[in-house]
Formats: sequence, structure tokens, C-alpha cells
Amino acid sequence: MILSIRIILLSLMLGIILPSGAESGVRDVFDMFRNMNKSTFDGPIPELTNGGTIDVAIIGGGCAGLSAAMVTSEHGFNTIVFNGPMPGGDLNVKTEVGNWPGIKFSWGNNLIPDLIKQANKFGTKILNEDVLKIDFSKKPFLLTTNLGNEYKVKKVLIATGTKERLLDVPGAAENRTKLLYNSDIHKDLGEYHKQAKGQKVAIIGGGVDAMKKTFYALKGGAAEVHMFVRGTQLNLPPWRKKFIDKKSDVIKIHFNHDVSKIESLGDKTMRLYFKNESLSSFDAGLVVVSAGRLPRSDLFKGHLDLDQKGLIKVTQNTQQTSVDGVYAAGDVTNVSGPQPQAGIAAGDGMRGGYSIVDALISELMMS
Ligand SMILES: Cc1cc2nc3c(=O)[nH]c(=O)nc-3n(C[C@H](O)[C@H](O)[C@H](O)COP(=O)(O)OP(=O)(O)OC[C@H]3O[C@@H](n4cnc5c(N)ncnc54)[C@H](O)[C@@H]3O)c2cc1C
Repeated sequence: MILSIRIILLSLMLGIILPSGAESGVRDVFDMFRNMNKSTFDGPIPELTNGGTIDVAIIGGGCAGLSAAMVTSEHGFNTIVFNGPMPGGDLNVKTEVGNWPGIKFSWGNNLIPDLIKQANKFGTKILNEDVLKIDFSKKPFLLTTNLGNEYKVKKVLIATGTKERLLDVPGAAENRTKLLYNSDIHKDLGEYHKQAKGQKVAIIGGGVDAMKKTFYALKGGAAEVHMFVRGTQLNLPPWRKKFIDKKSDVIKIHFNHDVSKIESLGDKTMRLYFKNESLSSFDAGLVVVSAGRLPRSDLFKGHLDLDQKGLIKVTQNTQQTSVDGVYAAGDVTNVSGPQPQAGIAAGDGMRGGYSIVDALISELMMS
């Protein structure tokens, strides 16, 4: 339905403005849209606060948010991206990226600045503000940020991603700098290899990330790797489990080992205790916590439908949430899949961007 409105609209405009459907003609139509809609961005940003209505607010400046912004601003709709606590998102670190379409290899913190430049080129404005509150009860929606600024917005796209699940047991917070989390490792894989060399490494977790950290440790020369899994099985597809089975001489899996306490024995050496007290403790030369990630969706609890894991529920072909005019994309949604990836987040972001463009054009046509 939305797609057909878009086709009718474009055909109408092409019919009125252009004698033929030449490619340059289509470009002219988009240029015209841009000019029609770019009014509120002519002034400096502060004039937008407590004042004019913004077409599109994107909460989150990672792959999903920036890709959505590129689409909405390319179509001439004024678009603000709120960067939040991690400008550029999870990929904006020195992590090796080998699966971004069209780029054989890049560091994450080289890719993201390019994405920012691309969105900026079309007019996206990026603000270093955290969104603290959204009033979904009336339209335009009202967003409040940590700087106390208020923004009225027609459409919202949420792309707040995920955060590392921290180990919540005695000794974990006190020894934070001695433990390695997934994000620490991705920031400097070479350093992880060095630290793992010759060590008895303990990996807390049984999912895909835990498995990757297990193999990275072996690549770095770890003497042996022990995976401590809370339940009775690994959270891996069968083909990944086979890789682990093949290395059973150096990878030991301990099921039903839920860590209850951590004690430092000096340097990076730690003693792990388990909830089932009949199990003996375990001393490791290096401890890696790979306990999964949590969606950054607390802000939306009670306002949007979330699934059991706290992921925002969206309709897969539009990225529409349970509230009209509010979309979500990337790792924070229930469609990001078992192994969230930057390319998937970017694709979802673009789809959300196009849904917003369709909705805004439809509203313009109806008004
Ligand atoms: C260390 C690491 C390495 C990775 N390496 C790869 C890789 O090699 N290849 C690959 O394909 N994928 C990789 N991934 C996965 C990939 O980074 C994610 O799938 C992708 O970043 C998800 O994008 P996103 O936009 O959904 O969320 P994110 O990138 O997490 O971005 C979320 C954004 O939301 C913002 N935000 C949160 N709350 C608020 C708020 N209240 N107000 C305003 N803004 C807010 C954050 O500041 C951030 O900018 C890696 C992930 C990690 C953690």
C-alpha cells in the first residue's frame, strides 16, 4: 500500500514535471523533494530545541541509525541523530571488519566515520546528546535529552543497540580491570593473544561470542581453555559445536557451572567459585566474561512491545514498532537474528528509513 502510494506519487510528479521518465528526471524529483522539505535546517541547531518540529529523530548513532538517517535525509526530510553514550556505536572501535559489503577489510573505526560523512552529505545532523525520555502519548512526539533540550518530532527510529552483560557476582566489579570482557578483546585482539599465551584460560559463557573467544585464545597460544556454561548445553548451532568437539583435547566444557564468586590471586590469576558448592573452585591464569549482550531498551518498557529478552518487537518488512510513527532497527530489535552483524543492522536501518520516507510522503500528499 505504502509502496504503491510512493509509485503513484512519483509517477504523478514525473508526469507533471518531466516529459519522459529519464534517469536524470528521477534525480530532479528527489532534488525537488529536498528543496520542498529542507526548511527547518536552515538555522543553527539550537533553534530546533523548544521550537520547530523535526521530521525524523533517530536515537542511536551506530550502523543502523546512521543508515536510516542517510535515507531520510537523502529524501529531504530533516533528520537528527542522537549519538548517546557510544558515538558511532559498537563498531566504532579498532575491530577487524571483513564482512562489510564491498569492503574487503577495514577497521571498524575507519568504516563508521565514512558512514557519518555519507549521512552528513545528505544533511543529517548528529547531536552528542542522550535521549532520556520520549512522550509517545501525543503527536508530534516529544523527546527530552540529558542536556535538558526538548525536541518535537514527527517520526522516531530507535537504534540504541545493545550493551555488554556484566558479571554480577561478588568480586566481579572489584576486579573489573583484571577480567576481560568481549568488548575489551575486540578493542585489541593482539593484546588478548599476548595475555592468553601459555595460560589456562577460563571463558564464562556458552554462546557464539564465548566460542570465538575460545578459539582466539588458542590462536594466541593458550595452554588450555575451559568454558564454564550455566546450563546443560552450548548455545550454538550444531556446525559450530563440531568445531569445539574437534578440539576436545584443549577445550574443556564444564556444564552446570554457574559462577557465584571471583577472587583475585594476583595479576590476572583468578579463582572461580560456583553456585553448586559441591563443585570445586577453579584457578585460571586469565578470565574472559562472555555472558551475552542486553538490549538498550529500558527507556521504552511500558511504551513499546518488547519480547522476553527485552528486544523491541518490529514488523520485519517495515521496522514498524507497536506505536504508529515509531520504528526500530539494528541489534535492539527482535529481528536482528542469532548473530547480530553490522551489515544486518545497516540493512534494517535503511529499510526503516524508507518506511519513514513513505509515511512522511503519504502524509504530505494527504495534507
Ligand atoms: C566489539 C565488537 C566488534 C564487532 N565486530 C563486528 C564485525 O567485525 N563485523 C560485524 O558485522 N559486526 C561486528 N559487531 C557487531 C556490530 O557492531 C553490531 O551488530 C552493530 O554495531 C549494531 O549496530 P546498531 O546500530 O544496531 O547498534 P550500535 O552500534 O550498538 O549503536 C547503538 C547506538 O545507540 C546509541 N544510544 C544508546 N542509547 C541511547 C540514548 N538513550 N540516546 C541516544 N543514543 C543512544 C549508542 O550511543 C550508539 O551510538 C561487533 C560488535 C562488537 C561489540
